[in-house]
Amino acid sequence: MRYHNTYARLDPRLYHQQQPTPLTHPKMGHFNTSVAKQIGWTEEEDLMTHWVDILGGHYVPEQFEPLAMAYAGHQFGQWAGQLGDGRGLLMAQVLDANDQLQDLHLKGSGLTPYSRMGDGRAVLRSTIREYLCGHALNQLDIPSSDALGFVVSETPVRRERMEPGATLMRVADSHIRLGHIEWIASFAPDLLSEFTDYMIDTYYPTCRESDTPVLAFLTAVVTRTARMIADWQLIGFAHGVMNTDNLSITGSTLDFGPFGFMERFNPAWINNHSDYTGRYAYQNQPAIGHWNLNTWLPHFMRLEGVTREALAECLAPYEATFMQYYQQGLCRKLGLPHQSDSLALAFEWLTLLEDNLLDYTNGFRALLGLVAPDEYPYEQQLLLTLKSELQSTALADFDAWAKRYLATIHALPPEQVINSLKNNNPVYVLRNSMAQRAITAAEQGQFEEVARLYELLATPYTVQDIATELDSTPPAPDAPQMPISCSS
Ligand code: AMP
Ligand code: MG
Ligand code: MG
Repeated sequence: MRYHNTYARLDPRLYHQQQPTPLTHPKMGHFNTSVAKQIGWTEEEDLMTHWVDILGGHYVPEQFEPLAMAYAGHQFGQWAGQLGDGRGLLMAQVLDANDQLQDLHLKGSGLTPYSRMGDGRAVLRSTIREYLCGHALNQLDIPSSDALGFVVSETPVRRERMEPGATLMRVADSHIRLGHIEWIASFAPDLLSEFTDYMIDTYYPTCRESDTPVLAFLTAVVTRTARMIADWQLIGFAHGVMNTDNLSITGSTLDFGPFGFMERFNPAWINNHSDYTGRYAYQNQPAIGHWNLNTWLPHFMRLEGVTREALAECLAPYEATFMQYYQQGLCRKLGLPHQSDSLALAFEWLTLLEDNLLDYTNGFRALLGLVAPDEYPYEQQLLLTLKSELQSTALADFDAWAKRYLATIHALPPEQVINSLKNNNPVYVLRNSMAQRAITAAEQGQFEEVARLYELLATPYTVQDIATELDSTPPAPDAPQMPISCSS
């Protein structure tokens, strides 16, 4: 691996150097060969041989420089002060096959000075959810952390019940969160300038070409965040806990806890069972992204030449960027050009999904069955199921909509429409029930289901033989929602 441990060279007040606390008898859960290749892990026999010991905290390779990062944050809209990192260590930074910097971060590696009341551990349940979700989002081409693998152990961890402890080696382009700057502003404001330079040089080097690199950097964080959230909305992903300490400065999805993928379409859907007010409901995510950035940006007024007015200009592109990216994506999901009549069709389609509580993923994929039923039998079946679920009063609306949609499509090159439908509407997402079945088996020591889901989600846009019906079946419309809490 090409080590590039730059964070460990920053001012020592920003972190605490320490070793992981070993887990008892770590055993392999799953190993992500493609991530391993990408970061150069597979090239070293020592790393390949000892990966379980490394993830289990028993062996720290010589070039690793483990440290716990200090950061703060706003949780559910309230300033929470110092928060982390209470259970994860930045183990090393490396340049990957594309010369992109990647952090290797061991989550669940034991107590740090920032653990507060926590035990520094992570349970197998949340580790598997994070492992599969990071993989799923990456394969859907949504900026996100991924992972090298995870191990499970005999170390018991108490949550609502006793659960097996596990660790995950997260691989992400950055672990700097909005909350890092909030921490610096509160506890080491003299470091803000140096740290901002580090962020620009490391993650946004082209901003140096601007006359005002700091403002260019802040604008870039704003627009990347807007685009990431547009990606979430388009795929039907709810992060679940968009606190400022869970948002990366690179606009890459980070920190998987009470996340979920939309099943029966309901914009007000709250996946996080601990989110009593619905602050992080699916439809609130774009506005929460804005709230987080708006709370975050004023810290930079400490820097010379950064005024309130200039910061307002950095934030201003957020909404337009989100809208443009979201609307373009929505049109692509229908195989249509980005224009106002396409959008009208798209919003009517969403209304049909919502009014009839239809599955978001299957609903969009079923459009292939409408456009080209003979070539797409799986999608044709999805369409039949969807129509069988329409309320009787909605049948005529559906037919009228389908007629207009097909007439619009008719004027376009068929290949183009079909490719757009195929490449923007996945067959498979990580439904909560799928993750849960893999977790139940893994808690009995069986990891085949994790491995199967890993394979399935590696090519989410392709119908696969290894799929079962459960992989694409939403819960019954009146089924109680599976409780997914912050506990992890
Ligand atoms: P989260 O809401 O899961 O992102 O957690 C907020 C902060 O609490 C993070 O900085 C975590 O490092 C810390 N934390 C969460 N769970 C634990 C735990 N079991 N032990 C120590 N710290 C924790
Ligand atoms: Mg990726
Ligand atoms: Mg977090």
